Amino acid sequence: MKKSKDLTSGSKTRKKKVFSSGDSRASKLENNNFKKEKVLKGVAASPGVAIGPLFTLKKQSTSFSLDHIVERKVDNVNEEINRFQSAIHETRSQILSLKKHVSENANKESDAQIFDAHLLIVDDKILMAEVVDVIKQDQIASDLAFYNVMNRYITAMSAMPDEYIKERAADIKDVAERVLHNLCGTSRVDLSNVPSDCVIVAHDLNPSDTALLDASTALGFITEVGSRTAHTAILARSMRLPAVVGVPNLISSLDDDISIVIVDGFVGDVIINPTEMTLEKYEKKLEKSQRLMLDFLEENSLRTETIDGYSIKLEANIDNSNDVQNVLKYGASDVGLFRTEYLYINRVTLPSEDELYNEFVRVIKKLPENASIVIRTLDVGGDKLIDNISTNFEHNPFLGLRAIRLCLRERKELLQTQLRAMLRASALGKVRILFPMVTAVEEVVQLKRTVEEIKIDLKKSRIDFYEDVRIGIMIETPAAALIAENLAYYVDFFCIGTNDLVQYTMAADRGNERVAYLYQEAHPAVLKLIHMVAKAAHNHAIPVAVCGEAASNPYYIPFFIGLGIYALSVTPTMLGSAKRVIRALRMNQAQDAVWHAMQSNTEEEALNYSFELLRKIAPDIVELMR
Ligand code: PEP
Ligand code: MG
Repeated sequence: MKKSKDLTSGSKTRKKKVFSSGDSRASKLENNNFKKEKVLKGVAASPGVAIGPLFTLKKQSTSFSLDHIVERKVDNVNEEINRFQSAIHETRSQILSLKKHVSENANKESDAQIFDAHLLIVDDKILMAEVVDVIKQDQIASDLAFYNVMNRYITAMSAMPDEYIKERAADIKDVAERVLHNLCGTSRVDLSNVPSDCVIVAHDLNPSDTALLDASTALGFITEVGSRTAHTAILARSMRLPAVVGVPNLISSLDDDISIVIVDGFVGDVIINPTEMTLEKYEKKLEKSQRLMLDFLEENSLRTETIDGYSIKLEANIDNSNDVQNVLKYGASDVGLFRTEYLYINRVTLPSEDELYNEFVRVIKKLPENASIVIRTLDVGGDKLIDNISTNFEHNPFLGLRAIRLCLRERKELLQTQLRAMLRASALGKVRILFPMVTAVEEVVQLKRTVEEIKIDLKKSRIDFYEDVRIGIMIETPAAALIAENLAYYVDFFCIGTNDLVQYTMAADRGNERVAYLYQEAHPAVLKLIHMVAKAAHNHAIPVAVCGEAASNPYYIPFFIGLGIYALSVTPTMLGSAKRVIRALRMNQAQDAVWHAMQSNTEEEALNYSFELLRKIAPDIVELMR
């Protein structure tokens, strides 16, 4: 059995052409007859199947590098500053038109937001003033001054262990390249001549280039580098382009003799020169996935309850207000986890209280009246290091001053700013405050005291907030799970963060592929901890949700339901499949499966119980995931 975390739901599908016009399947296979089928494994970045000829994008001719810059002194500094400012101006207009192109052509408005992040970079006054200072002080040409300033940021961010930050460095590089092109008068890679009905292969694709791909003719793409959280992958999901990224040695594995390639974005497989049998198999899979996705969309207004009437709250995880559009489209109305750290990434300065407040209010306004929004305080540290929130070097950042630890001990002002914004927003909607990375009761006491202090301040200033705002904690450390009975006494709800709970329980870094075999979300130890948490929540009559990635995996859903989890919070595009699984379940089946799973010796054995169950109740979903 193969596990996959990547089963999309409900996305509107368009019938993709399997081959380019004029190429009959027979002729393709004829050409393919003597070629050996090859399977490459990568990261399933965007679900779906694409089958077609390959088009390899050549490396960009110019890049963010000193090679393109002629070092020269300038006599007229003001003239040079003007030249720099007009390049920034030009870059700004290019980004705006790219944004427009994406809003008109991509599936969701939030994709255009990627370019908001790019605009933030060109609009960053401090950053631009730094460049102007360097031009003035060193009397050098603006391209070199700009390169030097940007390179410092890019190098620092690229050196971070966190993949997400690295990807954000890629965004800055993308913008920096554009500015340099404008300063030097060179042009970027031209994607306009990519033939239609092809699977695009590249070492890497940056978001601007991806946005220029014509989603109505491109079949999908494969890249050698990249991760699921990269903006390129985000765009691919929204453009409904099946994609597999992070395929090691991709380019060197390709020769000129390739007729057809298959991209399986559900499991992360790339099949080169498939045999007739393989081809037939994937054509069927393509059709099935398209049918299923349409079904999910039609089901999005159905109640999320088991066959025997147990209602499960299905909520969505978001990173910003633009994600709300998809929350509604795919059938949820509540936000179970708003990860605020993404409001701090992609920028040089920290967001102000007003900026945070305005973003929270945007979410409230876009959601239906009465919708609840769980907003989590900053979870910086671990694998999410943010450049402008200074965190000292730590040998084990996952075991270091992460999240509330950093906020309580060194950066209290960050917490205060966030809490003020959240409390102010609570006057307008059902805001709940969530604290990540809790391990001890004292932390919760301190956090609650901070909330109370802020309430007093707000009252003094006659600023409105909701007095009884609910306070919850993430249960994502074994310590928190083991003392859940004690913690439940202090808080209004629990949110189980399986992404971290699994890594801390299994002592396996969630981002380290070398110990990925031990990162087992359904390991009996993990299930037993979740069971303890659910029991504690029930004993204290507080709601308990699961908001880690496991909450959207059809294989784990029966376990969570069986353990008495009240809500699941998932990525918006995964709402459809989660709903389908919940609606196919009976509570006693789920309880039976998880009881057996908890007694199992291994995760594999545990998973078999849900696999056998799902095979009976949701065979369509199981089929796509293998
Ligand atoms: C989790 O740990 O499961 C979680 C939801 O938090 P994050 O993935 O942001 O660490
Ligand atoms: Mg976490």
